[in-house]
Amino acid sequence: MPEYKAPLRDIKFVMNELLNSEQHYASLEGAEDATPDMVDAIIQEGAKFCEQVLSPLNQVGDKEGCTWSEDGVKTPTGFKEAYQQYVEGGWPSMTADPNYGGQGLPHSIGLVISEMVGTANWSWGMYPGLSHGATNTIEAHGTEEQKQTYLTKLISGEWTGTMCLTEPHCGSDLGTLRTKAEPNADGTYSITGTKIFISAGEHDMAENIVHIVLARLPGAPEGTKGISLFIVPKQLPNEDGSAGERNAVSCGSLEHKMGIHGNATCVMNFDGAKGWLIGPENKGLNCMFTFMNTARIGTAIQGLGAAELGFQGSLTYSKDRLAMRSLSGPKNPEGIADPIIVHPDVRRMLLTQKAVAEGARALIYLAGQQVDVVHSGKTEEERKAADGLLGFLTPIAKAFLTEIGYESANLGMQVFGGHGFISEWGMEQNVRDARIGMIYEGTTGIQALDLLGRKVLMTQGESLKGFTKLVHVFCKENADNEQLKEFIEPLAAINKEWGELTTKVGMAAMKNREEVGAASVDYLMYSGYAVFAYLWARMAKVALDKMVEGTTEEMFYNAKIQTARFYFKRMLPRSKAHAETMLAGADTLLDMPEEAFAL
Ligand SMILES: Cc1cc2nc3c(=O)[nH]c(=O)nc-3n(C[C@H](O)[C@H](O)[C@H](O)COP(=O)(O)OP(=O)(O)OC[C@H]3O[C@@H](n4cnc5c(N)ncnc54)[C@H](O)[C@@H]3O)c2cc1C
Repeated sequence: MPEYKAPLRDIKFVMNELLNSEQHYASLEGAEDATPDMVDAIIQEGAKFCEQVLSPLNQVGDKEGCTWSEDGVKTPTGFKEAYQQYVEGGWPSMTADPNYGGQGLPHSIGLVISEMVGTANWSWGMYPGLSHGATNTIEAHGTEEQKQTYLTKLISGEWTGTMCLTEPHCGSDLGTLRTKAEPNADGTYSITGTKIFISAGEHDMAENIVHIVLARLPGAPEGTKGISLFIVPKQLPNEDGSAGERNAVSCGSLEHKMGIHGNATCVMNFDGAKGWLIGPENKGLNCMFTFMNTARIGTAIQGLGAAELGFQGSLTYSKDRLAMRSLSGPKNPEGIADPIIVHPDVRRMLLTQKAVAEGARALIYLAGQQVDVVHSGKTEEERKAADGLLGFLTPIAKAFLTEIGYESANLGMQVFGGHGFISEWGMEQNVRDARIGMIYEGTTGIQALDLLGRKVLMTQGESLKGFTKLVHVFCKENADNEQLKEFIEPLAAINKEWGELTTKVGMAAMKNREEVGAASVDYLMYSGYAVFAYLWARMAKVALDKMVEGTTEEMFYNAKIQTARFYFKRMLPRSKAHAETMLAGADTLLDMPEEAFAL
């Protein structure tokens, strides 16, 4: 496994030079503590923890995996101790509500830490990551008593959390879930059912686990309108707040899976477990939507992490590994052959990974700023605009980044040739670990329906216009900049085409609803390439401006411009294939009768 090195220079580039974080934090309500020095110190400390503690455990987690016994689930060597250090360092409380022990820092800073944690060791990072989901749910919908009992413990990190949605027969379609919640005389509920694939459902890293469970009340309406949300702790809290008697919830077994071996994926049995309702009856799914965007941005980070880790590994390797000579003559005449980094095709793979990792960082941090404004924007108008933009960007970030992040992890393996397929280098682990990103938290197909159906067509294109307007303004402002022309012209063109394609798909969908499903994944991927074009053009502008001003970091800024150029010439053209395919019509998919799919 390549040793993870936190890309601090690029993190600072995106935060400070591209997205102007200082000004952004100053514009938020109650973010006075997020001064540049403070933010810098937090990121430096986080980087140290990720490089020195989490990264060395990544391969250990993969090799050992988790083990189940009647007494519980044991996590891989070192996971528990690393978690203890994480808690002692105050990391779980960083962005949480100060009324319950949190430090109240902006969420976007939390995302930077999540990026470093997730790249260093995704399996480990999922334990605190899932707690974050439970924390957000209780913060948004819990009663004061629930917050005092559970939120404080989740925020301190003493207890961890889970999200229990999926059942054996349903994942994407939660409307059909069967877990039952029957009212008890004391106002609590008896929860009965089986949940599968529950990440961090059982482990030995914390003294208690707080499960957030979706279940149905007796007589609840069918479908998604009859789902309620419950808190079901592994151990029932005592009067003094400590973890007490064992509740009737247990891990029946662990799933054997392709990757993320260090994270326990559990079958959870609820056998009349005691639970408490959160939020209104039958509004469980609506409650979950309130933090879905944050959770999905969290998963998008997996795509960024996979690309970054693949890039770091393959960059070092491509400078060391000698094979054949450069086509234009030896570049390492003293050696028996040239390093493979001289070959154009290896450059293609390295630059793809770099363009994906750095573009993904820009997209995730941009989305992170919208999360900050949604929570702490000073005016209602600002908060509403940020919510709209975040809602639009979320399915793109989640699905596009995990798709191209996986592609990048694969390229990382390819750069290593045969050694990439061998475990000791860690590149095949990166591929295996990255694959789940396209499946959980809503598959690519489901995200694509959300983007095209719910976000774009149901708003008559308003959410798309919110973004294309930003692009339009940027293009207009830079229309006379000769140096930026190579980026601005294709950006303006795709921005225009995006709207036209949306209209065409929308018109087709008015005649036949199937057109939405038929176009959706191509539409989402196209949108991802368009968003990246905007971000890469903006990054190129920052870099070009620095070069004009004069800088001691010429190499860094030059690399940005070169990567932007690579993106525009060699990745953006993929959007053309998606454009053509999204208009190919549903018939090419649906005309074939089901029986004809014969084996
Ligand atoms: C390692 C791992 C960890 C997980 N962690 C958790 C967790 O912590 N908590 C939790 O609750 N769940 C968790 N999950 C479950 C995960 O979220 C689901 O597996 C995922 O949402 C997909 O659901 P499904 O498996 O039921 O697939 P299905 O819903 O059966 O989907 C199968 C295929 O059909 C497609 N499909 C379904 N409906 C449509 C449609 N209308 N249009 C187009 N395509 C469609 C899907 O895109 C997919 O390709 C985890 C899963 C794994 C493997």
